[in-house]
Amino acid sequence: MSLLTDLIEKLQWLPGIGRKTAQRLAFYLQKMDKAQVQELTDAITRARMHLKECSICRNLAEQDPCEICEDASRDKELICVVEQPSDVMVIERTSEYKGLYHILHGVISPIDNVGPDDLRIQALLKRINSQKIDEVIIATNPTTEGDVTAIYIAKLLKPLGIKVTRIARGLPMGSDLDLADITTLTRALEGRREI
Ligand SMILES: [Zn+2]
Repeated sequence: MSLLTDLIEKLQWLPGIGRKTAQRLAFYLQKMDKAQVQELTDAITRARMHLKECSICRNLAEQDPCEICEDASRDKELICVVEQPSDVMVIERTSEYKGLYHILHGVISPIDNVGPDDLRIQALLKRINSQKIDEVIIATNPTTEGDVTAIYIAKLLKPLGIKVTRIARGLPMGSDLDLADITTLTRALEGRREI
């Protein structure tokens, strides 16, 4: 296999990159400065090798516990449950939320063979049992899977006497949290309701 075909094939390992895009990227890389290409590949390798899951919130971080879990100015009695690490970045951009997070790394989805045990739900329960938590905000996406997951978690937490809320439906149905603009997201958080 030629170097070029090999590169084109491997670029297609990434989501959203089809054959055409892979080809374009492969040729584009040949025009780039060699040092820059090295920087890019180094950044990919470094991030992949050195990021790990925070043992508390399960976010991807360089240190364990992560910066957010370690931050003394955060409200430790408030946990916002999200699907993916990228959702944390989005909510952090609003600068409104001052609590902690819990990252599930997915949603319950029978079609994709993802059940509750494949998510970080046990880790959430352990966390809630070992420290005083006032409220859990469930900010999974407003999709069928996101809703099913929210209800599942609410049923587990309610008997423990925890206030469980769901972010408001300011977001268009089926949309991803990371597509929402900051104002919409801030409103969705403020308008959360108990479930
Ligand atoms: Zn953490």
